[in-house]
Amino acid sequence: MADVDTQREAVLAALENVAARLSEERKYLTDLDSAIGDADHGANMERGFSKAAEKRDDFDEMDPHEVVKNVGTTLISNVGGASGPLYGGSIMFASQELDGGITAETSVAFAEAYLDKVKDRGGAQVGSKTMVDALVPAVHTYKKSIEQDDLPPLEALAKAVDAAKRGVQFTTPIKAMKGRASFLDWRSVGHQDPGATSTLFIMEELLATAEEYLEGDVERDARASDAVRRDE
Ligand code: ADP
Ligand code: MG
Repeated sequence: MADVDTQREAVLAALENVAARLSEERKYLTDLDSAIGDADHGANMERGFSKAAEKRDDFDEMDPHEVVKNVGTTLISNVGGASGPLYGGSIMFASQELDGGITAETSVAFAEAYLDKVKDRGGAQVGSKTMVDALVPAVHTYKKSIEQDDLPPLEALAKAVDAAKRGVQFTTPIKAMKGRASFLDWRSVGHQDPGATSTLFIMEELLATAEEYLEGDVERDARASDAVRRDE
């Protein structure tokens, strides 16, 4: 296991990468949310993660799992909308799994706890057209790759990102059953879910950060999310 300073550095680098990416994707996420929601998902996500990234100096002395917990609480108070408590509360809850340090094993526990909390809080299942559609295949793929296939975490994460991408694509043809988009009933069909898409972007940045900090190489021709952009 990497030492605690390296773990903290990796968490902070991930936070910075995620914040920068969501800022870059603000317009795209807003466009997705304007089709089936209220056009605030891009702004919500950018605001929440940039507030968390601004706290970097406060995080310098903290344990890595406390940094993650703090990111969660910052998101709860700054993201707003349905996604604020879902992202923030679930990150906060799952952070306890990293208490003993960040390893392949604890990262699986983190991912599972995160998914359980999102499902528990939001009541969405696969097929509800939410972030859960990206998360379920991603978390299952990650867990299986590590626990059954014995892959290194970096490769497992690359496979999980790919699974999340397919989950995002799956949200387009289905009808929303949860959240604001469900008010549209059949009119939500044909639109990609914003929360599933931001989940994919975050995972891609976790992978990019992991590539800097973990051993090994993953084959990637392009960002997985390039495949889900149809309107750019
Ligand atoms: P709001 O819908 O309140 O404006 P956002 O626009 O920030 O909040 O987030 C919308 C996203 O939140 C959706 O695209 C969907 O992925 C996710 N979402 C909404 N409701 C739920 C739910 N009950 N369970 C899981 N995810 C949900
Ligand atoms: Mg919205």
